[in-house]
Amino acid sequence: MAGGFAKDGAVQDQIDATIEDAVTLVRGRLPQGESLENCEECDKPIPKGRREAIPGVRLCVECQAEHDKETVAVSGYNRRGSKDSQLR
Ligand SMILES: [Zn+2]
Repeated sequence: MAGGFAKDGAVQDQIDATIEDAVTLVRGRLPQGESLENCEECDKPIPKGRREAIPGVRLCVECQAEHDKETVAVSGYNRRGSKDSQLR
C-alpha cells in the first residue's frame, strides 16, 4: 500500500482544500487500515489522494461530510444555539 503523501498536483490541492477540515476531524477516529476504493455507502470511487490522506477511509467526500455533520452534532463540538438542539 502507499506509504506516504504522494502529492498529485492540482488534484491533491483540490482534495486538500475540500477535506482539510474533515481530515482534522476524523484523524484519530477512523480505524487505521486499508482504505476502501469505493465508498461504503454510495459506491462511488474514492480518490487516491483521499485514500492516502486518510488511512482506513471508507466514505467518499460527500458521505463523509454527512457523517461529520452527525458526528459533530453527537459530540457537541458545535453547540452554538444549544437551546434549539437540546431535546427534552
Ligand atoms: Zn459516498
